[in-house]
Amino acid sequence: MTDLIPELTPETLPMAFAQLQLAAPLARAVADLGYESMTPIQAQAIPVVLQGRDVMGAAQTGTGKTAAFALPLLQRMLKHENSSTSPARHPVRALVLLPTRELADQVAQAIKDYAVHTQLRSAVVFGGMDMKPQTLELKKGVEILVATPGRLLDHIEAKNTVLNQVEYVVLDEADRMLDIGFLPDLQRILSYLPKQRITLLFSATFSPEIKRLASSYLQDPVTIEVARSNAAASTVEQHFYSVEGDDKRHALHQILKQRELKQAFVFVNSKLGCARLARSLEREGLNTTALHGDKSQDERLKALDSFKSGEVDLLVCTDVAARGLDIKDVPAVFNFDIPFNAEDYVHRIGRTGRAGSAGLAVSFVAKSDARLVADIEKLLHNKIELEAIEFEENAPDIRKQGRINDGHRMYTEGGPTDTRHAGHRPGSLRDVSHEGQFARTDRPVRRDSAHHAASAARDPFFERPYEAPVVAQSLPSWEAVPGVHGVRSISANIKPKRRVAALFKSQ
Ligand code: AMP
Repeated sequence: MTDLIPELTPETLPMAFAQLQLAAPLARAVADLGYESMTPIQAQAIPVVLQGRDVMGAAQTGTGKTAAFALPLLQRMLKHENSSTSPARHPVRALVLLPTRELADQVAQAIKDYAVHTQLRSAVVFGGMDMKPQTLELKKGVEILVATPGRLLDHIEAKNTVLNQVEYVVLDEADRMLDIGFLPDLQRILSYLPKQRITLLFSATFSPEIKRLASSYLQDPVTIEVARSNAAASTVEQHFYSVEGDDKRHALHQILKQRELKQAFVFVNSKLGCARLARSLEREGLNTTALHGDKSQDERLKALDSFKSGEVDLLVCTDVAARGLDIKDVPAVFNFDIPFNAEDYVHRIGRTGRAGSAGLAVSFVAKSDARLVADIEKLLHNKIELEAIEFEENAPDIRKQGRINDGHRMYTEGGPTDTRHAGHRPGSLRDVSHEGQFARTDRPVRRDSAHHAASAARDPFFERPYEAPVVAQSLPSWEAVPGVHGVRSISANIKPKRRVAALFKSQ
């Protein structure tokens, strides 16, 4: 039987960490990190994991789910803490599996932070890196092992680690692991573990496959759901613009400037498209880096670091970057391409509006994207309203590639170009409104500067404002480029939140 813990009510929240009676070294680490109140997933999961129950947790990205499982696991493992140098005294007792290297790295770092005042050892192993240093670390003995499935199997086969004393298993981003075909690897790994163990399964979305996996590997789990499954952060203002081809880049430039955005993710569907777009934007004067699966691990980490530190303003990426990466809060996410998989939409836009701050998600919808947008509508149980975008009169025309290929920055071109109404072509909305799923907006776009950022609902647990990285305090590339006469005020072209923006209010 599965228990369902109801959502906490405003009266019972926020709950302070102090009420938990965490062991002193963990309480100290939490204080060092500046956490005061628990997030909803933490308030619900920590007591349950402390009791030794299996958990099936549905939590949207950025909700604090790493601490929700790591803190109680560390607390339960403190009894094994010892300072012996013998590897035999440090068998793997907790295994945390994640689908991507970046996530594994991030979660391992968070666990190190939470365990910093204990003697518990942790390590991370993932592919794309030399096995030797990982092997050395494993052979010394670690209590907590964070891993991606493929590389973990390599280590198991090489007898670098044994998992017969594992007491806790965490399957994080479980839906993603199934997506990318890890099921056989997962099953093999789970077959090496003792049957008697605690299993925690987290996923931002809960498909029927995940539920099946959960029912075969979890024993009498407590289900914890802090957000409607398949929901996106309620603090994200969402817009879907009807725009095609090169106009997408033009629209991107315009929205970045009009919204005075400091940083943004730009998602594309293919590795090739990712590299190409990053190059084009860089040529057009935007400070850009690319992150996709064809880059070496080293290049991927460098790209992420340069974005995190604010050295670059735009991270053009494929879905490899969409899941769970915690890059503080980024003010905006652009879906330059509509994702093939509707659930990826939720993950992508989960990169913004994190920790309760308002975020902006802009999706560029081409005519051929009709079915993909319909899938997103279906997933979200809400109508998506396509909007037209009107280009400013004096905006540079990036379609005249010859003028910018020579390395001149985009906005030095100046001078009025044509006014174009991307996506405002007769028939374009009719094309995408197949199956009668879309609402259509084809009235002229209102020029009203009163509607800036979303007056988004705030999550009382995460009142942290957006912290631009130190380097990004200076102007982002689209602001620093001289010669633009465009207004610095609020978007004239972005319409106020309407139906789309109201998508995620609970029903
Ligand atoms: P996660 O969902 O685990 O990736 O966490 C998202 C971000 O929230 C991370 O930067 C955490 O350090 C931060 N965080 C987690 N729990 C809390 C909390 N209780 N209070 C403030 N920040 C938190």
